Amino acid sequence: MKKKTQTKKIHTKKPRLFSLAALCVALPIACMAAFSGCETHTHTWGDWQRSEGEHWRVCEECDAEERGAHTGEPCADCGYGFKALAFGFTEGGDAAHADFAREANEWFAAQGEENGFTYDFAGSDFSLLNDDTLAGYDMVIFLNDRPHERSQQEAFERFMEGGGAWIGFHACAFSMVDSKEESEGYWSWYQDDFLACGNYARNTWNPTSEPLTVETHDHFSTKNLPDVFDSAPCEWYGWEYDLTQNEDITVLLTLNPTEENPAGDQPDPNKPHEIWREGHYPIAWANDGYNMLYTNMGHNLQSYNDFEKESETFSCPEQCRFILDAMYGLVLGG
Ligand SMILES: [Zn+2]
Ligand SMILES: [Zn+2]
Ligand SMILES: [Zn+2]
Repeated sequence: MKKKTQTKKIHTKKPRLFSLAALCVALPIACMAAFSGCETHTHTWGDWQRSEGEHWRVCEECDAEERGAHTGEPCADCGYGFKALAFGFTEGGDAAHADFAREANEWFAAQGEENGFTYDFAGSDFSLLNDDTLAGYDMVIFLNDRPHERSQQEAFERFMEGGGAWIGFHACAFSMVDSKEESEGYWSWYQDDFLACGNYARNTWNPTSEPLTVETHDHFSTKNLPDVFDSAPCEWYGWEYDLTQNEDITVLLTLNPTEENPAGDQPDPNKPHEIWREGHYPIAWANDGYNMLYTNMGHNLQSYNDFEKESETFSCPEQCRFILDAMYGLVLGG
């Protein structure tokens, strides 16, 4: 069943335009006299720019500028000042997953300082996934992990169904159990409804940079991306369910390997299934019933012998743009 509970949907205020177009409507005669050939157009606003005191945006077709003070906390117009709480392990577990979490902590904190949001990191302490703590946050971020206890899962469900924002990375979509039985620990709301991918089905190896196809630009997360871009190195996942057949799901980015351009470079001849040579793999998607976005990104290339770091997820400018645009869009309720 499709849930539409975006109580934080706050795109209700129409921008007030002090433009030639507005002047033309208000003062047609004066306008005609002063500006013969005066044309009206609906402004094509660029992204909000933010500073501590105000926000502004500029029309991409004319010089019109809309500028104003922040409204509310976070700002209902531009999202300035939102608060994000992230979970994930920075040591132990898969070394490349932990490495990503450490890198993410630095990147999100720096972006928060630059763009005006608060980034708090809870580590693996999922006991903080409770109603009282979540009431102080606008967004939750899962870095390669997700809650394992039922009470924490239920608090997360309430947060999302109440209009909270979420972005999840890479292995956070793992069900952690082979079974599909709730009694055996399968979180069916998360796997089947919210993420809608079901269980993990396959992966590539080694982590490789791949061309990613932007499936739609008609989404806040992809509006500033080119049609195709080269990712940072990552381990790519395939899933149990065909996300393209789910009408609640908007597939944002796909990986489309071919015989000429396979994904993965597994040198072990006994593991040919870890090199993909065909197919159409959703690697980032949104469930339109929630303020959520999942992305496969979050596995850095590194040696498992000496744990030497060999790549950075946030070295790819398009991925950085995608994640930052996603965060503001999700907080503003899409
Ligand atoms: Zn304009
Ligand atoms: Zn603002
Ligand atoms: Zn991984």
